[in-house]
Amino acid sequence: MSRAGLCALALAAGLGGLSCKVNLTPEGLMKTIDAIQDARKDLTPENEYWTGRSVATNLLARHDYKYKDADSLRAGRLEGLTAYVSAVGGVLAASALETRRDGDRPAPIAGWHFLVVESDTINAFAAPGGWVFVTTAAVEAATTEDELAAVLAHEIAHVARGHALGSIKKGRWAGVAKTALDTSVELDEKALGDLTKVFEGAMDDMIDGILVKGYSKDTEFEADKVGLAIMAHAGYDPQAFVRYLKTLDARQATGSGGFSATHPKASDRVNKVESQAKTLGTKKIPKIRVERFKAAVAAEAE
Ligand SMILES: [Zn+2]
Repeated sequence: MSRAGLCALALAAGLGGLSCKVNLTPEGLMKTIDAIQDARKDLTPENEYWTGRSVATNLLARHDYKYKDADSLRAGRLEGLTAYVSAVGGVLAASALETRRDGDRPAPIAGWHFLVVESDTINAFAAPGGWVFVTTAAVEAATTEDELAAVLAHEIAHVARGHALGSIKKGRWAGVAKTALDTSVELDEKALGDLTKVFEGAMDDMIDGILVKGYSKDTEFEADKVGLAIMAHAGYDPQAFVRYLKTLDARQATGSGGFSATHPKASDRVNKVESQAKTLGTKKIPKIRVERFKAAVAAEAE
């Protein structure tokens, strides 16, 4: 898809106002710079929103992802698989808010957005400010709604814990004159150019963490731990988290790219979360949940 086409879709999907390349007005740039200069420490929800919008657009544009249910998104409606994934994500997001931990990011000011992108590679990723993306292959690899919830909860945990923001290299700001970061000072062309470079670098750092190199192993284990707690609190079967990881483990042996490029070995993740899942016990999956999963995902496979 062309950049322009992607922009149209991004706008249709409620990513309104996104610039589809790093081409912000000085004011917009300053807002974003302001947003990321102190990474997690002084980042307001509004700052995080600006940052997340830019990261989400860059992620989609760089990987040329196409939205599932694009026509309805363009018309401003959530339909099909996207509506189903959004509904599951919404339940988990509420659970994340109810189970807040010290250091969690504030709830996204513009709400959470759960979007499905078409890809044969199993993957899911998230940008600051509540943007969660899951590939069609990742949805299809789930055998129950509870397993889908496990994937989404892991991504929600990345956002809640501020992992992408934390991946901005500490040295990013080193070359920037202090005055350039002072919003009361009018920027000359050079300062603006410097800031644009820093901004692009910070975007690269976050995109590297989210979709290229991945986060550290400990960061991923934290997302599993927090994600499992979030899904269990929402009433999903904790064992589904382990089951989905085991599916990933089986696929990881044969596949490459996607989650396997950015995540620790799935078998290591299983070892880390198994005892937590055991403590949380087992929940029987109600029939209605089995049926709605089958309806939503089977309809997709047709
Ligand atoms: Zn992860």
